[in-house]
Amino acid sequence: MKTFFHLKQEVIEPGLCHRCGGCVSLCTAVNYGALELDADGRPRYRDPDRCIECGLCHAACPENPELEAETRQRLAWSAPVGRVLSVRVARALDPQVRQKATDGGVVTALLLHLLDTGHIDGAIVARPKGSFRREPHLAVSREEILEAAGFHFDTTQSMAGLGREYSHRHGLELVSPHVLKGLRRVALVGTPCQIHAFRRMETLGVVPSESVTLCLGLFCSGNFAFGEEQRARLAEAGGFSWDDVVKINVKETFRVHLRSGEIRALDLQVLDGLKHHACRYCEDYAAEVADVSFGGISAPEGWTSVVTRTPKGRAAFVDALGRTLEEHDRTGQPDLADRVLEQLMGAAAAKRRQAQAFRNRLTPGASQRR
Ligand SMILES: Cc1cc2nc3c(=O)[nH]c(=O)nc-3n(C[C@H](O)[C@H](O)[C@H](O)COP(=O)(O)OP(=O)(O)OC[C@H]3O[C@@H](n4cnc5c(N)ncnc54)[C@H](O)[C@@H]3O)c2cc1C
Repeated sequence: MKTFFHLKQEVIEPGLCHRCGGCVSLCTAVNYGALELDADGRPRYRDPDRCIECGLCHAACPENPELEAETRQRLAWSAPVGRVLSVRVARALDPQVRQKATDGGVVTALLLHLLDTGHIDGAIVARPKGSFRREPHLAVSREEILEAAGFHFDTTQSMAGLGREYSHRHGLELVSPHVLKGLRRVALVGTPCQIHAFRRMETLGVVPSESVTLCLGLFCSGNFAFGEEQRARLAEAGGFSWDDVVKINVKETFRVHLRSGEIRALDLQVLDGLKHHACRYCEDYAAEVADVSFGGISAPEGWTSVVTRTPKGRAAFVDALGRTLEEHDRTGQPDLADRVLEQLMGAAAAKRRQAQAFRNRLTPGASQRR
């Protein structure tokens, strides 16, 4: 009898769960909800007797290599960073959006445009919950999309939970007919692992993947957990106090924005010990199978680097230009897009190399994706 856990244990090294929630989303959407997420965002049995042993949960796992080739082929993936139709640097026209955003607010401004023009009915985003926490949310209004932009935090509170700002836990559990309630055109914002899990659902052709019309992927060097001790070490390394921090961001460096307007840039290595275990094995930096991918890398401060990958993604982005988005003036820096691509390829190659080195240390037969 192949149950979810049998399959998982056969192929997937324990600890490599990316906590994307794809398996639970599928089980709830297609079957009887045998699985659930534990408090840490890892899947477990809610009730094994509800399991119909279809194996779909396993098939959709981004750690399972079985559907990788078919998924890549379907999306015209090509080395080294997936399909690239265009590389742009852009930002939101609305300064209010920019102010709330992580980088240039392009993700938020694009979602607002798509909602305003009726191209989407909603978007799966990560909204703030309390001062420091985020939770996946199906936003169906401008206000809800705006609320989920960038990240908020209130420095009058303790920093406990800041790590969740960069958490990619269980966003996919919202890709379920029960939550989508008949919505047919939803945009999904997610980290590479979430986008991979969703694309597998699409490859399998299982409900509710047809409800998602656009995948917006975030570049990702990893997801971090900030314990009290680690926060203290970061503050010491960066010579700042968390009380003065208004925003953190990850680009080429770990950037700490202070109340004074100063930005402290720390080498990304300071975050190594804070990375979620599974992220060490993840080979996708550039959200390679999204319709459009976004990051701050190589873009000037306050701008977002944008890679369009599918005609659908490119059309959505171009349609928003001049309405909610503006492109960086190319006259001053004509090679900006080339530099973004070059740096993106460098970061992607470094992440892949590191992941492969970690994978090589696994026991023989353990998960080897590529
Ligand atoms: C875990 C993580 C690691 C990252 N690492 C890098 C990196 O190494 N290099 C780099 O260049 N960029 C990285 N990014 C992407 C970068 O932080 C910005 O999200 C991106 O540049 C878009 O900026 P923006 O201002 O256009 O987006 P915004 O307009 O601020 O919108 C961001 C959108 O992403 C959603 N969101 C935020 N966090 C999550 C999450 N955890 N899961 C799903 N959706 C979420 C928000 O709800 C919002 O809709 C990372 C993002 C995350 C979440």
